[in-house]
Amino acid sequence: MNEAGLDATQLENLRTSLEGLRDELEQQREKVRAETAPVAPDDAIGRLTRMDAMQQREMALASAEAATRRLHAVLRALDRIEDPEFGLCTRCEEAIEWPRLRARPEASLCLGCQGAREQPR
Ligand SMILES: [Zn+2]
Repeated sequence: MNEAGLDATQLENLRTSLEGLRDELEQQREKVRAETAPVAPDDAIGRLTRMDAMQQREMALASAEAATRRLHAVLRALDRIEDPEFGLCTRCEEAIEWPRLRARPEASLCLGCQGAREQPR
């Protein structure tokens, strides 16, 4: 077991999830990149108006940004998974709850600290 109380099976489990997420997010980014070519001039757009096309592009870019952020967190977690303190909250140093790690294996904060961070400023 590591310092967060995770055993080899749990760590293996998380590694598999992280690798799956990494592949998924990379594919998602590629897909968005293809979809976000600059908006064509009005006459080149079929039934979509130019405004719609631009709005869709904005949304696609926002989701690409979110995918990139998550991908970076996933890559960091894959880097750290061998560390004895993997699974400890980087803020309060308590073990991150197992259900939370299962749902978001890239999490670096426990539920309490994540909640505190997400409070409106
Ligand atoms: Zn914490």
